[in-house]
Amino acid sequence: MLTHEMARLDSALSPLIGSAAKHLRDARGVITVGDLLRFLPTRYLSYDSDATQLHEGEFVVLIGTVVTAVTRRMTSRRGSMLTAVLSDGHQEIDMTFFNSRAHENKLHPGVRVIAGGQVGRYNRRWQLAHPGYTLLDDAATAALPGLYPVYPSVPKLHNWNLVQALGLVLGALDEIPDPLPQHLRERHGLPDVGTTLRMLHRPESRAQVALARDRMRYEEALVLQVVLAQRRAKRAQEEAALHVPGGGPLLAAFDDRLSFSLTDGQVAVCDEIQADLAGPAPMNRLLQGEVGAGKTVVALRAMLSTVDAGAQAALLAPTEVLAAQHHRSISALLGDLGESGYLGGSDLGTRIALLTGSQGSAQRRRALADVVSGDAGIVIGTHALLQEQVAFYNLGMVVIDEQHRFGVEQRDSLRGKAHSAPHVLVMTATPIPRTIAMTVFGDMETSTLSELPGGRSGISTFVVDEHRPGWLARTWARLGEECRTGRQAYVVCPRIGPGSGGEEGVDADLFADDPTDPDAGAARPEMMGVLHTYEELISDPSLTGLRIAVLHGKLPADDKDAVMRDFAHGRIDILVATTVIEVGVDVANATMMIVRDADRFGISQLHQLRGRVGRGEHAGLCLLTTRAGPGAAAERLAAVAATTDGFELAQLDVRQRREGDVLGARQSGGRGRLQFLSLLHDEEVIATARVDAGELVAKDPSMGRHPLLAAAIETWLQPEQAEFLEKG
Ligand code: ADP
Ligand code: MG
Repeated sequence: MLTHEMARLDSALSPLIGSAAKHLRDARGVITVGDLLRFLPTRYLSYDSDATQLHEGEFVVLIGTVVTAVTRRMTSRRGSMLTAVLSDGHQEIDMTFFNSRAHENKLHPGVRVIAGGQVGRYNRRWQLAHPGYTLLDDAATAALPGLYPVYPSVPKLHNWNLVQALGLVLGALDEIPDPLPQHLRERHGLPDVGTTLRMLHRPESRAQVALARDRMRYEEALVLQVVLAQRRAKRAQEEAALHVPGGGPLLAAFDDRLSFSLTDGQVAVCDEIQADLAGPAPMNRLLQGEVGAGKTVVALRAMLSTVDAGAQAALLAPTEVLAAQHHRSISALLGDLGESGYLGGSDLGTRIALLTGSQGSAQRRRALADVVSGDAGIVIGTHALLQEQVAFYNLGMVVIDEQHRFGVEQRDSLRGKAHSAPHVLVMTATPIPRTIAMTVFGDMETSTLSELPGGRSGISTFVVDEHRPGWLARTWARLGEECRTGRQAYVVCPRIGPGSGGEEGVDADLFADDPTDPDAGAARPEMMGVLHTYEELISDPSLTGLRIAVLHGKLPADDKDAVMRDFAHGRIDILVATTVIEVGVDVANATMMIVRDADRFGISQLHQLRGRVGRGEHAGLCLLTTRAGPGAAAERLAAVAATTDGFELAQLDVRQRREGDVLGARQSGGRGRLQFLSLLHDEEVIATARVDAGELVAKDPSMGRHPLLAAAIETWLQPEQAEFLEKG
């Protein structure tokens, strides 16, 4: 007999539910009463479908008894089929399963089941093909009014054992302490935690389930936002390493020699950044803007202000190609202002050091010396910048290009090279949906460059179906025409060659195993490779005489640099490449891009890619070739062709992708505890919780007045969750 003592959330389960406790612990890590309460049904079945009122195509849930169960070999294909006839006493319906020994072992004549599925008609009989079902015993049906909860499966336990276990636990609990402050519950009309959990485990109606889920979703959002608000509050109290007054001589000299005037948007963002740099706390700002929006100039002005204030600025790029390109373009923008100490350099100026993993040791030693002595005010590099040997004279500011490729350890490691907290500016060209900006990046201020600087001629995009006769040949002919007018072009492929995957860190073929993609599972042709496409192009008569080269991540770094340099100087007409050219590569004379097997790329990635062309005075042309045929993939491509609004495409991307894809595998790795909140879709809840959290933290930074909420936050900040937040 069980004890009559009331259970507490941290009570062990086995005194209450006996041997089921062991199975729950082994399979699901459910140990305490509190754990079990938060082990929640994933779906609910209702008993109200009537088997005498079946309609083809409708989803029904039926309760009945299996009257016969017969397995037959199939004649037309391999394997066998189980037909279990379900009767509710009035009407029979056939449940059919292919090759399913597991079902044979459960669906014996006489067992009672609750089954759900889509009604079909076959041989003049009603049919449920591969329905979901749960075995019932009579007690189960009798004991539960309302909806029947279906729990995640636990080996060795029947769903009904879980229903019973929850019944025992709910019965033994008195009041459940609520981590949500009462005034917030009341403000949003949400039930207390005890009511909520009862509604989830023993719902009387779908409306109750919905309300309970609202409450859980809000609770998750609030915990997340309090963590972020606390972090912002803490950062606001830090002393900045460096006070940057602005208006220094190097910046002024740079502005004088700049060949264009900043857009209004750039001026506004520069002002925001300058205010951060002059303030008492270190800057922590995210700068987003389309490819070509002019983020680099904005960042460079902040770096020059930093040098004016007597400190160094580091720019961290995700790849060697990009680091080298930043080095080239920043050197060009600065001219003699970047050559101080060299013959002909300016007295006012500074020096620009480049540090990458693959540079020669003499070059590297010189760069390291410039960094440690402070002669280089601007230091550009890849993750090689993060290595221990790299010491700064006085690092005051860090700019990170394309944040989503860097984890926080890396950000922190660079921060750690400064004497005290440096200013941090993160640049991204991937428009970040608002919900993600409020969560993954929720501890940063954000600035956005929403217009492109003038002088761009725009870009037209078309989809080319490679299966249509002559279309591919016409594509190569168009490529030839473009290059013979003196322009240059990219041909981008989703992989390098046979047997190689996509480029590292790149989401080509992201949709290959998307269960929501109707194309999934169907045999798809091998992805087009760079090497194969190169062979195709050099033997195509319409391209005879044009200079064609390849670029991909597996080339030695020196070769990559050489190819990029040759392309930048117009010594290559057509660059056949992987997505190494995705971000930042900037050659104004390149006006055409062909993306092969474009359906293997994500929406945002295609948008990024085509941003490489149409950057100068000539209009850009982007051809997306595909062999995919009609379907979801074709619709994605049509959407990319229809608009050049990056934010619109980012939203679309979000709607089409799964959470993990957008956040990156590591970022979503810890979301085990986000059971209800979707970081992509619950914008309103997240925004509300953000305001509430700001209020709470302003009044009570340590949550001393809300110990239960503080405890919930503690749980959240267990290593894996913390990692989830950190991997911005
Ligand atoms: P992003 O880093 O946002 O992709 P960049 O800063 O590299 O964009 O700018 C793209 C190109 O536009 C560069 O060649 C840059 O010099 C130029 N550019 C930037 N701002 C302006 C402006 N206000 N007017 C004209 N050209 C600009
Ligand atoms: Mg850039």
